[in-house]
Amino acid sequence: MVVLTFYGGVDEIGGNKILLQDGDTKVFFDFGQSFNMGSNFFTSWLSARRVNGLGDYFEFGLLPKLKGVYTKELLEFTDLPYVDPEVDAVFLSHAHFDHIEHIKFLDPEIPIYVGEGTKLFMNAAEKTSTFCNYRKHPYRTFRTGDKININSISVQPIHVDHSIPAAYGFLIETSEGVISYSGDLRVHGTRKDLTTDFVSKACACELEAIVCEGTRMVETEKRKNYSEEQVAQLSSDVVSSTDNIVFATHYSRDMDRLRTFYQIAKNNSRQLVISPKTAYLLSTLLGDKRLDLPDPLNDDTILVYYKRKKSGQFEEKDYYVWEREFMDKMVTHDFVHNNQSKLVMDLDFYQFAELIDIKPDAGSHFIHSMSEPFSEEDVEDEVMHNWLDHFKMKFHQYHASGHLHQDHITSLIDQIKPKKIFPIHTENQQLFKKLQYTIQIIKPGETYSLR
Ligand SMILES: [Zn+2]
Repeated sequence: MVVLTFYGGVDEIGGNKILLQDGDTKVFFDFGQSFNMGSNFFTSWLSARRVNGLGDYFEFGLLPKLKGVYTKELLEFTDLPYVDPEVDAVFLSHAHFDHIEHIKFLDPEIPIYVGEGTKLFMNAAEKTSTFCNYRKHPYRTFRTGDKININSISVQPIHVDHSIPAAYGFLIETSEGVISYSGDLRVHGTRKDLTTDFVSKACACELEAIVCEGTRMVETEKRKNYSEEQVAQLSSDVVSSTDNIVFATHYSRDMDRLRTFYQIAKNNSRQLVISPKTAYLLSTLLGDKRLDLPDPLNDDTILVYYKRKKSGQFEEKDYYVWEREFMDKMVTHDFVHNNQSKLVMDLDFYQFAELIDIKPDAGSHFIHSMSEPFSEEDVEDEVMHNWLDHFKMKFHQYHASGHLHQDHITSLIDQIKPKKIFPIHTENQQLFKKLQYTIQIIKPGETYSLR
């Protein structure tokens, strides 16, 4: 019998942990962390104790208490006994936090299957983030069209368009027919063709079921709904109509957006200033030629911004070894201040203190190329606007979502015609009911048969 259990991503956007069992075969699809994990019990100064392994998480039901899943050392102080792994494999759809982060808790004996590009993102994160450690699993990389047999099931990853490269959906052949898992996807990015491929391959399978994301299944869409192309056009209009500096912020792993701002800088005879961390990520991703990204060391459009650290004198020893690689492309706050009309600069919210050193002219621009705040009481949003007002900067909100608009979900489902839908990665499962298909409303930790 084929059954599915959903340990995360239920009634929430992200944190997907989907267990598929076919007889004795057990495979997880994604093993991510919820964005608000533990927020009912932990807050900035009150956090889960590292010394207690998974104990503090189990106390509040923040992780599924399953045998044969977690690494031995993290179970030491818990009442869950360690046993050898009982999971055959974990497949990761893409390298977003809410799909991969909890693999750090998994038994390192469990093989992890990822796209080649996803592995590069993970390598870069391990190098540049202090607490990032995905452990020494047997990692096996795949590409679109591969067929990976895990005992009684066969998994076919197919690329999709999302706000990170190397994102995949899956077609899973089981003993009771084919299931699909959509991962996260969209059709309004630069690579609509990838999602089209996924849909046409899914159509050919006569799906028993699809586990489908529904991030944008909302009663009324209040957010602006731009495509990547529109974001590029609107941002380009800002850059071409000013002699001031233009700052932009976007999700650090959204390479389409990075490419958008790179291209805008280039088209306007400006240079793009990025952080050493972004430069490191870019050079790691050069390992996948298909991503077609600029090389920060050899591309004249790219400059790398170094903050004052330790000595305050921009000395090599002030910086991590991985940061030093880009010092040939180094610029500092003085350079940025003196060349404002010639630059577009990546500047995320947490680096805003650099504005104090850069001293941008009044009337400079800031493009917020990320989701709008979820509530009007968003404290960070208020702080961000205080900074922008202080420096007399003009604010622009231009973002294209990484997820299908609900009209596109309807059209995707109408093309694929699955016999059953399991809504995941959504706060509004019930909205799937307007589709004329069998909808299985899911609850966390409950098991559902395929048929
Ligand atoms: Zn995602």
